[in-house]
Amino acid sequence: MINFPVLVVDDNPIIQKMMNIFLSKAGYDVASAENGLDALRKFDQKFYPIVLTDWMMPEMDGLELCRAIRKLPIDGYVYIILFTTKDSKEDIIKGLEAGADDYLTKPVNHPELMARLNTGVRILELEKSLKKANEEIRILSITDHLTGCYNRGYIGKHLPREIKRAHRYKHSLSIIISDIDHFKMVNDSHGHQAGDHVLREFVRLLNGSIRNNVDWLARYGGEEFLFALPETDLKGAMILAEKLRIAVSESSIVHKDKAINITASFGVTGFDVLEACDNMVVENIINMADKYLYQAKQEGRNCVRGGPL
Ligand code: GH3
Ligand code: MG
Ligand code: MG
Repeated sequence: MINFPVLVVDDNPIIQKMMNIFLSKAGYDVASAENGLDALRKFDQKFYPIVLTDWMMPEMDGLELCRAIRKLPIDGYVYIILFTTKDSKEDIIKGLEAGADDYLTKPVNHPELMARLNTGVRILELEKSLKKANEEIRILSITDHLTGCYNRGYIGKHLPREIKRAHRYKHSLSIIISDIDHFKMVNDSHGHQAGDHVLREFVRLLNGSIRNNVDWLARYGGEEFLFALPETDLKGAMILAEKLRIAVSESSIVHKDKAINITASFGVTGFDVLEACDNMVVENIINMADKYLYQAKQEGRNCVRGGPL
């Protein structure tokens, strides 16, 4: 547990100093504060996953500090151990209710402090691994397993958000729906694995052609993909779609030494400034792009069709 940041809060400089020496020796990265207010100021500059605090202090005592830390808008958990000379049941309950995780009666016994700190570290590490697992699950839940781009669930959640944002800030928003032409033939002539490879390469190619962190690409269905283009008007989206179309038609995807050439059709729609904004708009915007995609298919494929919402 090298360099685990610990904040020691005590108005007694001698205790501060002793704690500092003891905890530094034990491998912790120690900082001190002289009361609750001072501790909160320290939190403004740095996050301390462990706080050891005295109860009785001027300006802001340990209980108030516990409550204040629990209200801080911070991401990680702070494990708080309260030092106290009070050891009646009521006092202990008061301390725990204020948000302390554990308490130690003064004078602090060092081996006991080490044991309690180890418990804190164990809990913090558990919290960290839970968070990591949650984040992995979150990413999996919005990712298309085959191609690595966003999945349909992401569209359902984030397209309404894009529409609301465009409406609020009076920005334009466009979407493109793209469908690979005669994709069934790729599967039929080269096999399903080749088809999967083509889908992955298609996404790799197109993901590289849109603005990072602004535009996003999601798999809408089998070989159908949706691009969301915030702050892009219809004209801009038509130009981008044409660029994407050319990129696809000029690329050659190699699978097991065989070149597979594909084309795709594109349906585009969007608005400059959205007047009304309700839930129907999500469906409208997808239906409209779909309508233009259908037109592109009807009119020979490997082309872009679009129009206003
Ligand atoms: P069109 O030009 O009209 O779009 O013709 P198409 O053949 O592309 O369209 P159709 O809807 O007839 O066929 C789509 C094919 O995409 C059928 C389906 O098996 C295939 N497909 C869907 N998802 C996957 C996938 O994940 N991997 C593979 N290899 N094929 C898929
Ligand atoms: Mg198709
Ligand atoms: Mg299709």
